[in-house]
Amino acid sequence: RTELTRDVVIVGAGAAGLTAANELRRAGLSVAVLEARDRVGGRLWTDVIDGAMLEIGGQWVSPDQDALIDTVAELGLETYSRYREGDSVYVGPDGTTHRFTGEMFPVAPETERVIAEITERLDAMVAEIDPDRPWAHEKAEEWDRISWDAWLRAQTDDDEAVRNLAFATGSAMLTKPTHTFSLLQSLLMAASAGSYSNLVDADFILDKRVVGGLQQVPLLLAERLGDDVHLGRPVRTLEWSGDGVTAIADGMTVRARFAILALAPVLYNRISFVPALPRLQHQMHQHLSMGFVIKVHAVYDTPFWREKGLSGTAFSPYELSHEAYDNTNHGDARGTLVGFVSDQHADDVFRLSAQERKDRILESLSHYYGPEAKEPVVYYESDWGSEEWTRGAYAASFDLGGLHRYGAQLREAVGPVHFACSDMAGAGYQHVDGAIRMGRLAASQIVDEARA
Ligand code: FAD
Repeated sequence: RTELTRDVVIVGAGAAGLTAANELRRAGLSVAVLEARDRVGGRLWTDVIDGAMLEIGGQWVSPDQDALIDTVAELGLETYSRYREGDSVYVGPDGTTHRFTGEMFPVAPETERVIAEITERLDAMVAEIDPDRPWAHEKAEEWDRISWDAWLRAQTDDDEAVRNLAFATGSAMLTKPTHTFSLLQSLLMAASAGSYSNLVDADFILDKRVVGGLQQVPLLLAERLGDDVHLGRPVRTLEWSGDGVTAIADGMTVRARFAILALAPVLYNRISFVPALPRLQHQMHQHLSMGFVIKVHAVYDTPFWREKGLSGTAFSPYELSHEAYDNTNHGDARGTLVGFVSDQHADDVFRLSAQERKDRILESLSHYYGPEAKEPVVYYESDWGSEEWTRGAYAASFDLGGLHRYGAQLREAVGPVHFACSDMAGAGYQHVDGAIRMGRLAASQIVDEARA
């Protein structure tokens, strides 16, 4: 068993943990990062599958994500824009495929008017919310009591409008059924990206990618830390007191003054805390759960949809894959599509055989792009639900009523134990940008305490 003594032990080598570790080292503190997996990056994972480079986890960078943009630039990485020339595609309630340009789906004029009006109302509400403190809004409790679905249905009885408005924060972001989370949680999701309209605008929220893959961010951050990153070291026990912490991982023990738990909050209960965490944390952490989405990658010999004048951008609240995009790699002659299958749809297709699931998903993509979509040369499903050290995708959110009740305490340290993860971010919530922000915040709190 290896025994180490450091100023700070960091549990988890994702974007949050590695950012914190680098900040702490820069401030002159010694660190050890303990990572359960045999790789760094957590939910960032770029790999070659059957000869195709795929972004199995997070990949997109949007223009408001300063923390990520700064990190990408500082690490010397290049970005490129998602392909978006040509028409987008929308499949309506009767299964008809429509081509369109701009942000508004090609729906009936009355439905369009309703969507525009409610979007305006949502933007006004979101503008009043501080993403770092959504619980501080005077209507926080009221907005946290009602589900996103129920609130939308109270605004209009136009079902197509409701479905189109719902999925921007539902299937596409929190990846939970829209009756399971609150209006406030939905407003936070939108506020974390600047506005509800930004979230709906694929050209904004899915703007750029990193040449060579976004996992290079954690890989390069880890490289700077050298021997201070320890792979294959799941932390099983964390002893803590006013004097410091002892993290006991497989084959390694680290004693330190402070700890940062930089893992998804749904996994805190995998660690035995000695003494137990306070009752507030016990309760609060049970009200957070992971969303669930399958990211589907389909690679073709050519980006055939471009020849048809299609951008690759496709949406439909009626399709198994509710959204899909051109995800061709930088400089690649082959074409890649990425589609997403969310929440209950994901449950449903995981009950099928792998072949049936693939057939169903490719059938859905063919409704957007034509029959050629059914014949990819490489096909892969990112299945984060079965990853022991993540357990869902993209991130965690509160159940109904949880955000105003507990949100303010989520980032609060317990004695020497600090918490950092994208799943507790305000700006950049559920995104790599938020993970970096939370890593910086935990590090700065510890630097202040260490100097006090
Ligand atoms: P994680 O990446 O989850 O890191 C936590 C680390 O802790 C992991 O490495 C884990 O193995 C480790 N760990 C857990 N338990 C223990 C333990 N007991 N001991 C030691 N180590 C432990 N974000 C974007 O910005 N843009 C996108 O396009 C985007 N798309 C996404 C697509 C998918 C399919 C997924 C899954 C996520 C996506 N995200 C995207 C979200 C983004 O990837 C995450 O928000 C972010 O990477 C989380 O970083 P983190 O450091 O907070 O947590």
